Amino acid sequence: MELLPVNLPVSTRWKQGYFTNNSSISRFDSTWRTVFLFQSKVCSGEIYEQLLAAEAKDPTDLDAIDAIIGNTGWTRNRCSACYGETRDPVVCWYNGETEFLLCNACIDAAKELILKG
Ligand SMILES: [Zn+2]
Repeated sequence: MELLPVNLPVSTRWKQGYFTNNSSISRFDSTWRTVFLFQSKVCSGEIYEQLLAAEAKDPTDLDAIDAIIGNTGWTRNRCSACYGETRDPVVCWYNGETEFLLCNACIDAAKELILKG
């Protein structure tokens, strides 16, 4: 069990997801994958540059990150119980196969249930 914050910076995770560095083939075989954003194909490397610029300008401005990517999935955690999205840290259980996240509201509800007996 761990406390899982909204991970920052997004640019680091974006690069992990979309930059391919296949050194087993060739050390020169490094490339950014093409992604669909705003209903068009774009180079994920260009988005990466925009993310870096936004984070350099204001690392706490997650709305700016959402605007660049076009969705909120990279700046929020989704609770496994209520499916609500939150930018607050969540508690994370990982059993080796499945990750289960709980938001503050659901943890409070569970605590209240336990205290009532
Ligand atoms: Zn919840």
